[in-house]
Amino acid sequence: MDLPYAEPFKIKSIEMLKRTTKEERYSLIKEASYNLFNLKSDYVYIDLLTDSGTGAMSDKQWAEIMIGDESYAGARSYYKLKKAIKDILGFEYFLPTHQGRAAENVLFSVLVKEGDIVPGNSHFDTTKGHIEFRKAIAVDCTIEEAFDSTLIHPFKGNVDLEKLEKVLSENPIEKIPMVIMTLTNNTSGGQPVSMKNLKGVSELCKKYGTRLIIDSARFAENAYFIKIREEGYQDKTIKDIVKETFSYADGMTMSSKKDAIVNMGGFIGLRDEDLFKQASTFNIIYEGFITYGGMSGRDMGALAQGLDEGTEFDYLESRIKQVAYLGQKMKDYGIPVMEPFGGHAIFVDAKKFFPHIPQSEYPAQLLGVELYVEGGVRGVEIGTLLADRDPVTREDRYPKLELLRLAIPRRVYTNNHMDYIAASMKNVFDRRNEYKNGLKILSEAPIMRHFTVKLDKI
Ligand SMILES: *Cc1c(COP(=O)(O)O)cnc(C)c1O
Repeated sequence: MDLPYAEPFKIKSIEMLKRTTKEERYSLIKEASYNLFNLKSDYVYIDLLTDSGTGAMSDKQWAEIMIGDESYAGARSYYKLKKAIKDILGFEYFLPTHQGRAAENVLFSVLVKEGDIVPGNSHFDTTKGHIEFRKAIAVDCTIEEAFDSTLIHPFKGNVDLEKLEKVLSENPIEKIPMVIMTLTNNTSGGQPVSMKNLKGVSELCKKYGTRLIIDSARFAENAYFIKIREEGYQDKTIKDIVKETFSYADGMTMSSKKDAIVNMGGFIGLRDEDLFKQASTFNIIYEGFITYGGMSGRDMGALAQGLDEGTEFDYLESRIKQVAYLGQKMKDYGIPVMEPFGGHAIFVDAKKFFPHIPQSEYPAQLLGVELYVEGGVRGVEIGTLLADRDPVTREDRYPKLELLRLAIPRRVYTNNHMDYIAASMKNVFDRRNEYKNGLKILSEAPIMRHFTVKLDKI
């Protein structure tokens, strides 16, 4: 008999989970104003809110925690991380930051001015926040195929090169400080970008004279998809593919909490010394001196180790296969999930799940609430709440896709957990016609409202 697939690691340390009853969860979510961010994690059985900072570090990463050098300047751990970034990603210059959005804040403080335009493939929410906060505009040039949740396309994270060229050619280039490519494309479903597309974007950037910056949180998962799906890459290692990926970019921002499998941290990688010097000033003001910038020495060591482990094929295969296992299980139950399955998460199409509930009643949030009540599983809305209001008209923006994201932490849950999640979702799905109304907003913040919004059932 063929041997089944099994994870290339074993478990060395465990954390007990608390169980709650359905009745308890019903009142807990009500007390939380139907906002999943307001729940105490002790009352969440399986937490799929995010794959950010929730991964399990390896024994070797924990060993780095012990041997970290906490010197303010010139720490050994800083040089270890500098070497890993040079060797694995190819950037000569780097600045540590406390997380990905801090990297954006520092770099955009140099690059983005009022009235600027920053095209890309569906900017991540904090990226868009940092652009719009500076009164600049983020233009989404993602391919149309990305917005059809059932269409099979190997690289739904791609940019439409014609759309991008239109933006680059129709605006003064001084107003376009950079193009941002997000790998994988989180907002449109954890979908990868092909090497061919990235190369095309890089050529356009060169032709019109602007920079290409990679928002790199899931660059390794992107490289895995390139290896599996793109012609000519089957025999390359993940590390080769990663090197080529970044060779097209002038710089990168990184949330290390994703593919580098640490609980906190971020950085900026750059090629240009002058830009590095300008960014260094902001790094010192906002984050810390340039050899620690918001990170402990020990965390920089664990990050260096995580960059190495996170770019190994065996690990990535186990990770992405687990996500697909959950997706297939839900698909088999008839639940409308986005396809192809993303690298870090399964996205449930709430418009299809609750076709009778309008987007103005936040159907994806309703689905998140009901999944929590059913099984104690916490997902996150990637829909109208997240899309926020138009900065000018203050009207709700209705995104093409209204999704509930189930993000899978790295190396944390087993496939038994995946079975439990799928079954919880199936029970909500079987009752879907019993839900007559969605939710309404009671109060919200002026920017990034999804974190603190208070809701009620209609
Ligand atoms: C998480 C993430 C960020 C922001 O990083 P934080 O570490 O959460 O601040 C930026 N871009 C993408 C694509 C991300 O996934």
